[in-house]
Amino acid sequence: AKAAGGNRYELADADSDARTIARHDLTNCLPGALENGEFFIEYQPLVRLSDGTVRGAEALVRWLHPVHGVLGPDQFIPLAESTGLIVPLGRWVLEEAARQARAWRNDGRCRVPLRVNVNLSPSQLRYPALVAETVAVLDNAGLDPSALCLEVTESALIGADEEQLRPLRQLADLGVDIALDDFGTGYSNLAYLRRLPVSTLKLDRSFTRGMQCVPADPVDVKIVEGIVSLAHTLDLSVTVEGVETGTQADRLRILGCETGQGWYYARPGPPERLHTLSLADAAS
Ligand code: C2E
Ligand code: CA
Ligand code: CA
Ligand code: CA
Repeated sequence: AKAAGGNRYELADADSDARTIARHDLTNCLPGALENGEFFIEYQPLVRLSDGTVRGAEALVRWLHPVHGVLGPDQFIPLAESTGLIVPLGRWVLEEAARQARAWRNDGRCRVPLRVNVNLSPSQLRYPALVAETVAVLDNAGLDPSALCLEVTESALIGADEEQLRPLRQLADLGVDIALDDFGTGYSNLAYLRRLPVSTLKLDRSFTRGMQCVPADPVDVKIVEGIVSLAHTLDLSVTVEGVETGTQADRLRILGCETGQGWYYARPGPPERLHTLSLADAAS
């Protein structure tokens, strides 16, 4: 989809014909790309639904490929995952996002201290130094652990035993917020959810889509209602992805979801924009 603004680019779908690039081509230049500084991060605001204030942003990585232009994460994260590059790349994203959160906080224009969400891949969860490195990154940036939310997909956690969950539990005990990303797509059972060290459910876009229709899809409404009630019973907060319209935002707020993210508020964009967005709600 084409975002607003003249100098914006179009992120192609992983399967779009015109932009499908030979896998081996990308695999070959992936390691050098990190050294060459070809990755950059866009930030998409996370908005408190009750009053529309920006509370933070999710860091979404992009690759400015010298030949192919800007590539979205769906085009290279799976490759980075299978080649092991995801560990250094993920570390870079975390460092960069922490530095950015510090910059937002130093700036003084933002109405509230903004938090930053960073995606963690399954390999990073298995990486032995994850906890130590994360703590060091927070220290270096002078950030309290509560300024960071790590997003882990439901599928990465399915079947994880207590031992495998330990790093996440340690981070959660330190005060890092852990979000269960793409919730609802991984078929985790409810008993399992209880055992996870998570504080937020991030409801996948597939569940919020039906909230756009007029009238809303009654089955989707029931499903979201059920998930929110379950989440609140377990003391979890609910973030919804893919909020594209005001009607959808209102419905999700009324259903009790705490936080929203989506094109209705803002597309992913440069970090400087967070100041403006945070200012804009102070003015309204
Ligand atoms: P995700 O974590 O589910 O991120 C949300 C995706 O939904 C983003 O796609 C975002 O641009 C898109 N999106 C946001 N709002 C809307 C909306 O209102 N409507 C629609 N249709 N889409 C919306 P993006 O940036 O292409 O990222 C795709 C996935 O790549 C992410 O999905 C995440 O799983 C992964 N990813 C991104 N950055 C990183 C990273 O640094 N590390 C790892 N391991 N994975 C990453
Ligand atoms: Ca995410
Ligand atoms: Ca997600
Ligand atoms: Ca999703």
